[in-house]
Amino acid sequence: MERLKKIKPLIRFHLIVNVLIVLFITGASYYHVPFEGFRDRAMYFIHLAVLQTTVAGFLYFLTLSRWLFRIVFSALFLIYCGFSFWAYSQDISITPALIQGVAETKPDIAIDIITWPFVLFYAVAVLVLTAILKYYNRINPRDGWRILILPALGCVILYFVMERSQYGILNFRLPYNVITGVHEYYEKPPLELNKRFPKFERLQDSVKVVFVLGETVRADHLGLNGYARNTTELLSGRPGLISFPNVYTSKTVTATSVPQLLTDQELEDVSRPLTSVYDPAKLTGYRTVWIGNQTLEKSFLPITETNDEVILVDKYRSVFSFDKELDEVMLKPMDSLLREPHSQLITIHMIGSHWWYENRYTDEHRKFTPVIDSKYIPSLSREQMINSYDNTIVYLDFFLNEIIKSLEKQAVPTAMVYISDHGELLGEDGRWLHAQKGKALTNPAYMIWLSESYREKYPDTYRKLIESKDDSLTTDSVYYTLLDIIRARVSN
Ligand SMILES: [Zn+2]
Repeated sequence: MERLKKIKPLIRFHLIVNVLIVLFITGASYYHVPFEGFRDRAMYFIHLAVLQTTVAGFLYFLTLSRWLFRIVFSALFLIYCGFSFWAYSQDISITPALIQGVAETKPDIAIDIITWPFVLFYAVAVLVLTAILKYYNRINPRDGWRILILPALGCVILYFVMERSQYGILNFRLPYNVITGVHEYYEKPPLELNKRFPKFERLQDSVKVVFVLGETVRADHLGLNGYARNTTELLSGRPGLISFPNVYTSKTVTATSVPQLLTDQELEDVSRPLTSVYDPAKLTGYRTVWIGNQTLEKSFLPITETNDEVILVDKYRSVFSFDKELDEVMLKPMDSLLREPHSQLITIHMIGSHWWYENRYTDEHRKFTPVIDSKYIPSLSREQMINSYDNTIVYLDFFLNEIIKSLEKQAVPTAMVYISDHGELLGEDGRWLHAQKGKALTNPAYMIWLSESYREKYPDTYRKLIESKDDSLTTDSVYYTLLDIIRARVSN
């Protein structure tokens, strides 16, 4: 009893500091979650409680050394408040791309982001930190350490147990995402790109190609491929559009499938240096531009950087954000690029049909109802899940049709190649989403459209595509098909 009484002030201190950390830092990771109903709130409250418990564990050890706490805690608190302000105000995601932005931003750009709300938030944070440090001076942090050290160790272990159970469950949120982001930013890219190329021969006069890299679209949910619902009304009426319903991949997460689609990597072979599709394109006179609505992951960043130009429309919001831009935002930069006269290979990297589906399309594309109304999947019906997913396909139909409309207006032959990076589980064996095992993930949607003048000028390419459209293919063929379409050929 006597001992418990002794540690009471200490426990009060830790409780108060942890609540302040939730308010100023960790809470920011949950602020933009679109809660619907009690269950959602309860689930996220538990998530936050677990996360903060692990933070409390690390914090306890930090408080044991007075000087360490004063210096390290103060520095971390102020740095983290800088990140959490943007997470609160704009739902930015702390990713290697953001760390790069912070590390490489010039001072004049940095001044632009210092707004009045930011200054105010920071001033309050400094006051709170001062109060915490004053409070800390009044306690003896080592009181009752014999009782507290084991529970504190348990909290730290909880962090490792949680992360082992599911990668990113805590690491994608504040405060851990800053550490993960810094670590990934400084880590050497794992991918080795070929710097010595075979000689490529240029076969075209002038061609413009848009390569659309889709996200999470399975082939069997396209009306074009015989799906019972007509999810591709606009594309179905497009002459020159060929769909390949039988293309397979073994790579079912973005980090592994995107590098494969953009290079000559084969599904079974990962060892040799890879050739980015943009290098032969550039060598044969194309200007290559990447327009992306996803943050650049280190898994495909080196390939992206082989483009002449990279435009990111929503640089600091990852796929886990609930405030991400719609894919149609990419149409404007694409249209202005298309006005340039030279041959072009423009890549459009979509957020596509990535969870949370309701953030991926507009109201006018809500063809199927009822839709999902919670982030907590077990509380949703199969019907809601599939309706929302199919609405993202209706949006894809609109989006690709807009691209085709722009390409049709061009004076030169044009083409669009669309492939999704992988599929999605929609309740097969009771499982949902992706990044796991499942047959539904291995059959991504794949479509190619060639303009009338392209088909007239290069009938062989068109005929070859038509002939192979029902073949069982792997994604190994995509790279070579793209080279065919941009009409680059290895010369002997
Ligand atoms: Zn993906």
